[in-house]
Amino acid sequence: MSGPGGVWAEVVGQEPAVQVLAAAAVDPAAMTHAWLLTGPPGSGRSNAARAFAAALQCEQGGCGHCHACTTTLAGTHPDVTVVATEHVMLRVEETRPLVELAQRSPSAGRWRVILVEDADRFHDRAANVLLKALEEPAPRTVWMLCAPSPHDVLVTLRSRCRAVALRTPPVEAVAALLVARDGIDPAVARVAAQAAGCHVGIARRLARDPATRARRSAVLALAGQVRGVGDAVMAAGRLVETSREEATASTAERDAAERQELLHALGAEGLPTLPPALRSQVRQLEEDQKRRATRSQRDVLDRAMLDLLSLYRDVLVVQLGAAVDLVNAEQEAMVRELAAGSTAEQTLRRMDAVGLARTRLAGNVAPLLAVEAMAIALRGGPSRTGK
Ligand SMILES: [Zn+2]
Repeated sequence: MSGPGGVWAEVVGQEPAVQVLAAAAVDPAAMTHAWLLTGPPGSGRSNAARAFAAALQCEQGGCGHCHACTTTLAGTHPDVTVVATEHVMLRVEETRPLVELAQRSPSAGRWRVILVEDADRFHDRAANVLLKALEEPAPRTVWMLCAPSPHDVLVTLRSRCRAVALRTPPVEAVAALLVARDGIDPAVARVAAQAAGCHVGIARRLARDPATRARRSAVLALAGQVRGVGDAVMAAGRLVETSREEATASTAERDAAERQELLHALGAEGLPTLPPALRSQVRQLEEDQKRRATRSQRDVLDRAMLDLLSLYRDVLVVQLGAAVDLVNAEQEAMVRELAAGSTAEQTLRRMDAVGLARTRLAGNVAPLLAVEAMAIALRGGPSRTGK
């Protein structure tokens, strides 16, 4: 069997989960009003939930072509609400309108679907508000909660949902999707899927965007370049600067649009200077945007740390003579050089240093400090011996 097509075509490598969801969409006895979809980052939780929503709205259980299917997948179906929060936590103020919405019958579709992308972020009080809605469901309402793992969701919520677990998709499945959907060359697709650790979104970016590939190579090259403390400090500075640029590039457009919208709402568009009474509003927005940029930079840096870890993992694989594929096949020459010039023990110590930097970054240590300390610990290329 080649697996179900239609709306499920892009839910790759998740056959067991798709089987459960597809069955529920066509069999009332297999259906329930609250679902919890869990899976590691990049496994496609919210993709799977969207496909499920489309299958529920479709007269044929998810043909992929009809109006119900295409509007649901495009995010424009009037009865499918997707909740993605910018805030660290989902608050009562954001949850209450959802609960009210859930009481209403669908306007055009077969179901009213409320899809929460970060169900691990419900504030305790917000969860209590939601709990009532899950306990007394409206007849045609379906809640779809997504989270990294069941343990990330409050037990009171979890216990009222049917759980479906996604897994990390196999390299072959991710590569096949990149080839089929994005027209990417099979060899490039495989390298990208492997390098991205099977994170579908990152794999696609790596395969399609030369700038992303170049940034990743620069991060990995760091492992081969750092010899002395001076090198380490310079490399760390460059890495932090690049991550800031990448984070800014991804948020700048949105920041400008939000500012425009706010000025419009305040009636201050096109004024040469802001009236003092409006300044605090704009300052508030600027602070929110700055916080978002900081978070985004930390995400970019963490991604770089994971890339470095994958490189040292490859070095270790070579040093231990394990017969498994390299994650970074494109960097094989550097991997072999590093493996020949150091011991497995040194490699493990370097992996610890990267891990420590990740912990520090997550704990709000200034990025430059955390990355500098890491780069100094990574020092000592092939020419160094011992400690
Ligand atoms: Zn359809």
